[in-house]
Formats: sequence, structure tokens, C-alpha cells
Amino acid sequence: MTRQLGAVEAGGTKFVCAVGTGPENIVARTKVATQDPATTIGNVLSFFAEHDVTAIGVASFGPLELRRRHELYGYITTTPKPGWSNTEIVGPLEAATRVPIGFDTDVNGAALGEGRWGAARGLSTFVYVTIGTGIGGGAVVNGQVAHGLVHAEMGHLSVRRKPGDDFAGTCPFHGDCFEGMASGPSMAARWGTPAETLTGDALEAAIEIEAHYIAEGLRNIVYAIAPERIIVGGGVSSIDGLLPQVRRKLTESLAGYPGLPDHEKPDFVTPPGLGDGSGIAGAFALAETALAERL
Ligand code: ZN
Repeated sequence: MTRQLGAVEAGGTKFVCAVGTGPENIVARTKVATQDPATTIGNVLSFFAEHDVTAIGVASFGPLELRRRHELYGYITTTPKPGWSNTEIVGPLEAATRVPIGFDTDVNGAALGEGRWGAARGLSTFVYVTIGTGIGGGAVVNGQVAHGLVHAEMGHLSVRRKPGDDFAGTCPFHGDCFEGMASGPSMAARWGTPAETLTGDALEAAIEIEAHYIAEGLRNIVYAIAPERIIVGGGVSSIDGLLPQVRRKLTESLAGYPGLPDHEKPDFVTPPGLGDGSGIAGAFALAETALAERL
């Protein structure tokens, strides 16, 4: 019998659950609206009650406790999402299904998914960045997702201001960090309207500023992690004409140091190979790892 795995992409608005041998062979899938934790997790458990799986991977919004020996391992911790602070995710899934559960952030999952099936296939050190409602990034370094005390929080990197820009930024913690200056809500606050409603000159001006701040964020990532490729996903990143400007501005901002032609190649900064499927693919990758660790 083919081994079926479970995958959960746990997001702020919906939980996508899937069963299959991998993202290319999904035999069942459902979407559960993100309500209160008990209702949402209950709906996820109902889905898996109907499907035999040998392991489940969960790629979740965070912040998460990922240290295996910590008493809160497997929890969403201090999220600003109302009602979700200190929510146990791994425990209830493990108790109900009695299979190994893999657990990581949505962006670390997306990075793993892109590495296994998408735009980072064959690479060992790369970064997945999402630019949408928030900004987050996951790094795979020498084939392993980077974790330490906590997971990376690349959305809160410092970015240099564009000369003349006096926008305060929208991050509740830092104001003008990467996320504060370049997330979807930041664009909406700056322009008084969501980015997807901008047209003509306003759109062009918005892209110019947005590309500056994304390039600043990516420059930090280039220098800190030395990735072979950076995959940029999320709703904002799919604005027409944005990524080419980001590539140009990144090249300008690297200013010829360390002078690698690779940083200027069009596929150094690239959209996801899996479109909006990176997250669920990552959850499958986490399930595979959890199963391998158990065997
Ligand atoms: Zn911040």
C-alpha cells in the first residue's frame, strides 16, 4: 500500500489540510476557516479522522516554540492574532492521530517545499521570503532549516530609508523595519488604499518605493546568509513589474561587493516554482522528515 502523508498549512485566515504521497499526488484536500483555536483544530482533526496517514507535517503562522525540549514545544506562542496566543498545535494532533507530527513555520515550510519540489531544487543554501500581509523568511543552510533560540524573523530586519521618505512605517514593534516599510498593510497605509487598487502613476511610484525596501531587506539576507538563491513569494511580490525592479535595486545596493555575477542573474531573485503551493508542499516535506525520524 502506498504510504499516505498528511499536510497542514496553518494560516491566519485558513488552514489547508491535504493527504497524499506528496504535493504532486494529493488525494484529499480541505480548507478550514481560521476561527477560534478549539473550533479550527477540531475541524482539522475531523478531516484526519477520515484519512489514514503515517505522519503529518504542519507549517504554521507564528511565532512558534520549536525547541524540542522546551515545555511549550509545538505551540503557537505570542501571536498578535486574537485568541491564538499560547495555542498547542502538535499535542492535540499527536493525541488524536498517534502518528509523528512535523512542525515548523509557514516560511520555513515553504523554503523546504521549494527546495524539494520547486525553484530551489538542487541547492543547499537558499532563502524563501514572503511579502504579503506580513513579511517573513525561512533559510535553508547546508540542507537544514536554520533554527536557534527561535526561528528567523527576517521581516524585522532593519532597512535603510529611501532618501526623502518620511513614512513612519507600520510595525507595532519597530515602526520602520522591513515589514513596517514593505508589507501589504504598510503599502495600504502609505497610499491610503490597498496596493492592488493602485494604477498608473501611483502604481509606478508605489513599485519604485516598494522595490527599494525589498532590495534593502534582500541585501541584508545576501550578506548574512550567503544564499545561492532567494525565492520571493506572497501577494505583494506578484505585483506586475516589481521583481525586475527589485533585482535592479539589489544589484545597485550591493554596489559591486563582493562582486559575484551570480547576484545579478535573473534567477537569483525568483518567484516560487510552486506558485501558492509552497506552503502545503513544505508541510509534506515536514511530514516526511517526522516519519523518517520515527523509523
Ligand atoms: Zn518590525
